[in-house]
Amino acid sequence: MSTPGAMSTDLTTLDVAALQSALSTGEVSAVEVTRAHLDRIAADDARLGAYLHVDPDAALAAAAEVDRARAAGGELGPLAGIPVALKDVVVTEGVPTTSGSKILEGWRPPYDATVAGRLKAAGTVLLGKTNMDEFAMGSSTENSAYRPTRNPWDLDRIPGGSSGGSSAAVAGHLAPWAIGTDTGGSIRQPAAVTGLVGHKPTYGSVSRYGLIAFSSSLDQAGPMARTVLDAALLHEAIGGHDPRDSTSIDAPLPGLVAAARQGARGDLSGLKVGVVTELGGDGHQEGYGAGVLERVAAAVALLTELGAEVRPVSCPSFDLALAAYYLIAPSEASSNLARFDGVRFGLRVGDDGSADLDEVMALTREQGFGPEVKRRIILGTYALSSGYYEAYYGQAQKVRTLITRDFTAAYGGADGGGVDVLVSPTSPTVAWPIGARVDDPIAMYAADLCTLPASLAGVPAISVPCGLSEGLPVGLQVMAPALADDRCYRVAAALEAAQDAARGHRLLDELPTPAAA
Ligand code: GLN
Repeated sequence: MSTPGAMSTDLTTLDVAALQSALSTGEVSAVEVTRAHLDRIAADDARLGAYLHVDPDAALAAAAEVDRARAAGGELGPLAGIPVALKDVVVTEGVPTTSGSKILEGWRPPYDATVAGRLKAAGTVLLGKTNMDEFAMGSSTENSAYRPTRNPWDLDRIPGGSSGGSSAAVAGHLAPWAIGTDTGGSIRQPAAVTGLVGHKPTYGSVSRYGLIAFSSSLDQAGPMARTVLDAALLHEAIGGHDPRDSTSIDAPLPGLVAAARQGARGDLSGLKVGVVTELGGDGHQEGYGAGVLERVAAAVALLTELGAEVRPVSCPSFDLALAAYYLIAPSEASSNLARFDGVRFGLRVGDDGSADLDEVMALTREQGFGPEVKRRIILGTYALSSGYYEAYYGQAQKVRTLITRDFTAAYGGADGGGVDVLVSPTSPTVAWPIGARVDDPIAMYAADLCTLPASLAGVPAISVPCGLSEGLPVGLQVMAPALADDRCYRVAAALEAAQDAARGHRLLDELPTPAAA
């Protein structure tokens, strides 16, 4: 199939757009591309901890199938032969799916999530399932019940979370791209702290069918990639209406790849950009890294140079986002996680006849859930209990409405005159050392300050690399009105094109071996 020696490049260094063309011209085979990534996983994942499950034989067989179909001149999906990694919250037929929890250990789902099914139909090759905070609750991947994941930029630091296995895999070149999920920031923050592009789509624009639910009114799956164009390609492959998700929006996606290409031409003239005061602006800088604020200011200056009109915008209710989110998300989680009872899926403890049904459920949940998950279930159950419901859950929902109104006002409401996009840091700080926040849930939750407003309002938001601080990646967040995901890609691509330096993704083998390894 491929001419020997035609491509001496390490195939794990190519972005997906390049892999796609090399595959379509026959310069490389799908098996070669898959094998290159499997080799890197074999060499590096023991110390990185990005994957929970890899099945090399299945991956190579799927790749060989693509090569056979291509040789036979058959009809091929648009992403035929491109490897992909899926966060372990995405249900995959016959492939272990744990959501990072012991309670689902050993479960092999009988069906594919829509996201997984669409990627399969497009011809991608599943490399494996990536590590994550248990049930996506966390910002560092240290809440995984299996093992922590390390940041390829500094193996003693966290890769962000909860999609930290996906971010580490892509940043470390153990996958060309990956799927993450984002409830309060879990795509954007890990992307930011590992130097990747990560996009949380408009709520309802990517199917939730087959994502293990955390907080159903917030959860969205989305792309994590090394370039804006790759993220747009992956987003287009998974997005669009799905009748199996009752909250799925029945409207076509805007042209995301086209928007990325347009943005890369570097002209943002006429675009109105609002810099959110409450997210790192004057009087709101406590807890933000000075280097992060500096890099973000430089990125904003660059947007001006590209022709955008930039002005500060105040969104006063954003100050309440953290409190509202940590009531709403645990409330929904306490209900969603009731299904893990030792009867239907995975783990069952005390099933030797000595315990009755209630005891089996209690023992299973006691042993199957980790401390953070238990904390959320207790918080959520309390917030929903009669007598407290209005004071906690009800109030939080009102705050959610206020936050949505701040967005609407910023974008101009019905009478126009507002901005086209809002920008902020993605994460207040760079990746912190492993262990630094595990005993301090409030410090861990503070990592979500900038990402929560877009989650609560259901609007799209992208994180794009904007340079380094202390040698570690910083991300700029670009938020847009609902269904205008294309604007996020356009602005991100313009910024990416204008600052090549921010795209220096290092290969893992250039990095030092961690002291702990
Ligand atoms: N860090 C947030 C939490 O712990 C967000 C997680 C997410 O987006 N899945 O809930």
